[in-house]
Amino acid sequence: MNRILVWFRNDLRVHDHAPLFAASQKAVEVIPVYCFDPRQFDTIELGFAKTGSFRADFLLSAVDNLRKRLNEIGSDLFILQGKPEEEVSRLALELNVDAVFFSEEVTSEEKYVEEALEKKLWKEGIKTESFWQSTLFHLEDLPFPINQVPEVFTQFRKECEKYAHIKKTFPIPINLKLPELDVLRGEIPSLKSFGLEKPDADPRSVLVFEGGEEEGLRRLQTYFWKNDCLKDYKQTRNGLLGADYSSKFSPWLALGCLSPRYIYEEIQKYEKAVKKNQSTYWLIFELIWRDYFRFIAKKHGNRIFQLGGIKSNVDKWLRNEDLFWIWANGKTGIPFVDANMRELNTTGFMSNRGRQNVASFLVNDLGIDWRWGAAYFESQLIDYDVCSNWGNWMYVAGVGNDPRENRYFNILRQAQNYDKKGDYVRTWIPELQGLEGFDIHIPFELSTKELKSKGVNLGSIYPHPVVKMRAYI
Ligand SMILES: Cc1cc2nc3c(=O)[nH]c(=O)nc-3n(C[C@H](O)[C@H](O)[C@H](O)COP(=O)(O)OP(=O)(O)OC[C@H]3O[C@@H](n4cnc5c(N)ncnc54)[C@H](O)[C@@H]3O)c2cc1C
Repeated sequence: MNRILVWFRNDLRVHDHAPLFAASQKAVEVIPVYCFDPRQFDTIELGFAKTGSFRADFLLSAVDNLRKRLNEIGSDLFILQGKPEEEVSRLALELNVDAVFFSEEVTSEEKYVEEALEKKLWKEGIKTESFWQSTLFHLEDLPFPINQVPEVFTQFRKECEKYAHIKKTFPIPINLKLPELDVLRGEIPSLKSFGLEKPDADPRSVLVFEGGEEEGLRRLQTYFWKNDCLKDYKQTRNGLLGADYSSKFSPWLALGCLSPRYIYEEIQKYEKAVKKNQSTYWLIFELIWRDYFRFIAKKHGNRIFQLGGIKSNVDKWLRNEDLFWIWANGKTGIPFVDANMRELNTTGFMSNRGRQNVASFLVNDLGIDWRWGAAYFESQLIDYDVCSNWGNWMYVAGVGNDPRENRYFNILRQAQNYDKKGDYVRTWIPELQGLEGFDIHIPFELSTKELKSKGVNLGSIYPHPVVKMRAYI
């Protein structure tokens, strides 16, 4: 073929990039394109933006860095704004390309766009080819057809580990040839153009998250090689404070700045060079969870966004906006929940332990429609990934693939296990810092006299709890 347009989506990298590599092999000239879709920045019914400022800011730097990476291999990035099904097809026609290559997504909005684009291109006689590439295990290597993906994670994992292999990464193409064109390459839009402000950096953030392949690769270097954290991952992964209790790869994985197979190959290198133990395996184990939610989403389609998820259809949920906002704003009066929500709102990130607890609190203790929580996370999380987010929320809400009926997290018991001395809550709720040790988790159990002696006035500087908490011992 003479010219292939490569449409980048959630795969903002040049390493292990199936469509880019294939295009570099099959075409004389390759035209890389990214299109900002304004629908991703709409305001949803609950009154907040589908993409909040942390994620939008991360995305802009990721696209910017992709252009730089492409420049380094002799190419460039065309930046478009508008509906990709219209804009990408318009450019493909204008530039007279033979084919458009892109990576396949699994959920409805993304599917709608790719199918609409394909239809338009086919009408014009332009070929398309889609590539599967966001998971560790390739779709075609699964040991079962997609409609028979096991509902239980352990079965899925064991069968994949036994019967499937993980494909090698694709090399970075060298010397991509871009045609001589008069067409403007386009500029990266500003946050303001999406109605968003640059978020303030907070010194308490676990990490300075900057979008882009280079930063993703750098984070891997630091976590694996420089700080040598991988060998302890299993013991530290439930932490709450600091950069290195877990990998923090998720924002880069979500936008495809890091390939999971590249991470896998680096783990293998680490196992040879440094140590192979349960921790090195456990990171692979977690990446298989990520695969699992993607394949479950492909199997069940739109059901992952629906009230009953893939399990029940009982509408037992409250839709009380006041209560929802108390949770979202971190004003429940339950310090462990509020600290986590404040971290999310202030930095765009929250630990896995925190996510499980605040999600369980919203659905189990407050009884609020789980989809509201999932939508709020979609807006706020810097690492939002459609399958991991909605899949995990279904799981916590008991409408997913958990063999256990009720995934209740006893917040105070969790606080005892994971923040016994209260350091995490003290970081995020300074108005309670007079309370020593575990007392900071239970101001509502202390007498007014005790509270007063520590400078805490419940109902004034910090709210009374919105619900009575279950006993924790
Ligand atoms: C309610 C809820 C919502 C979530 N929403 C998202 C989301 O939108 N995007 C997202 O990437 N993760 C989501 N997770 C999963 C998990 O919390 C994050 O992947 C993890 O906290 C990211 O930090 P890390 O990269 O340091 O993880 P690590 O512990 O270092 O794990 C390495 C990688 O494994 C994958 N992983 C780990 N745990 C899970 C999991 N439970 N499900 C799927 N993948 C996992 C991630 O890609 C992660 O980057 C959610 C979890 C819950 C309970």
